Amino acid sequence: MTRRAVVTGGAGFLGSHLCERLLDEGYEVVCLDNFLTGRPDNVAHLVERPGFRLIRCDVTDYVHVPGAVDAVLHFASPASPIDYLQLPIHTLKVGSIGTLHALGLARDKGARFLLASTSEVYGDPLVHPQPETYWGNVNPVGPRGVYDEAKRFAEALTMAYRSTHGLNTAIVRIFNTFGPRQRPSDGRAIPTFVRQALKGEPLTVAGDGSQTRSICYVDDMVEGIVRMLHSDHPGPMNLGNPHELSILDLAMWIRDLAGSSSEVVFVPRPEDDPGVRQPDIALARQVLGWEPKVPVEDGLRRTIAWFRDHADLV
Ligand code: NAD
Ligand code: UDP
Repeated sequence: MTRRAVVTGGAGFLGSHLCERLLDEGYEVVCLDNFLTGRPDNVAHLVERPGFRLIRCDVTDYVHVPGAVDAVLHFASPASPIDYLQLPIHTLKVGSIGTLHALGLARDKGARFLLASTSEVYGDPLVHPQPETYWGNVNPVGPRGVYDEAKRFAEALTMAYRSTHGLNTAIVRIFNTFGPRQRPSDGRAIPTFVRQALKGEPLTVAGDGSQTRSICYVDDMVEGIVRMLHSDHPGPMNLGNPHELSILDLAMWIRDLAGSSSEVVFVPRPEDDPGVRQPDIALARQVLGWEPKVPVEDGLRRTIAWFRDHADLV
């Protein structure tokens, strides 16, 4: 029998890749999105495919899907720092009320529920790399607190539905992921540097650029998410590429791959910007047999090529 999945935030960057992958696996996919930070164009190539349905809906208002559902994947949330800083209350609502509605749908349908959580639950980490057992170092009243605490609440709510209602749940903690369909203006480091490099504008490196991130190509991330969906593990499960690099090195790498002569300029570091970030993925290797396969340089080349082909967005 055909399996049916609901993806909230399915018209966003990660959600659109996930919808495509689930369709390829033979799922029927219901994509729910209010296009707050995503775009209908991200799924325009899926609309004609049998089994795909796009519904405009704000998951903080309601989540209603007629018919049977086997999986609910909750990805709706602003995700880039500039998005959630501009939408602080909505970010808290979608992480709390939106998650409550998505969990309610999964409970009603007897579906497996997968929460897209984040490495931001570790805040500015004092343990490095970060294993799932680390409780994190989050400033609840700082500007990033709206996102970090929304996701921490969403994790707690997911666990409460598991223990109280016996819901089949999964939590993945996603580390920095990049690739085609990221919004060029979303303010995250990779789309920003690619856009700037292609336009010959200065690359804006925050602070002295010595802060680190570990970056994962989207195809690898989607593979990890689907393996988690098909497992019966509750998580939390780190998913990310342990390839760690400084932001300054990342900026210069992108500039070189884009064949750009943009200069690098140093701009003020955002408040509470984490100093380091690297996933410990021992659990994902052991339970899911998963680790990233796409070399970061290949992923960056593919991303730059996509941005070049979509110059209208840039
Ligand atoms: P994105 O902004 O491209 O996608 C989020 C989608 O959710 C958008 O399409 C947006 O319109 C939609 N949305 C927001 N509020 C909604 C609402 N109330 N109702 C319905 N739809 C709503 O961001 P992304 O990078 O694709 O992130 C997707 C998910 O993955 C988020 O939950 C994010 O926290 C998580 N995540 C992403 C990363 C990453 O590196 N990309 C890292 C960690 C976690
Ligand atoms: N960053 C930067 N220049 C930019 C955008 C981001 O130097 O134009 C830095 C940012 O301060 C952070 C890192 O790049 O140290 C990663 O930022 P991003 O927004 O991509 O992700 P997050 O901070 O959520 O990991």
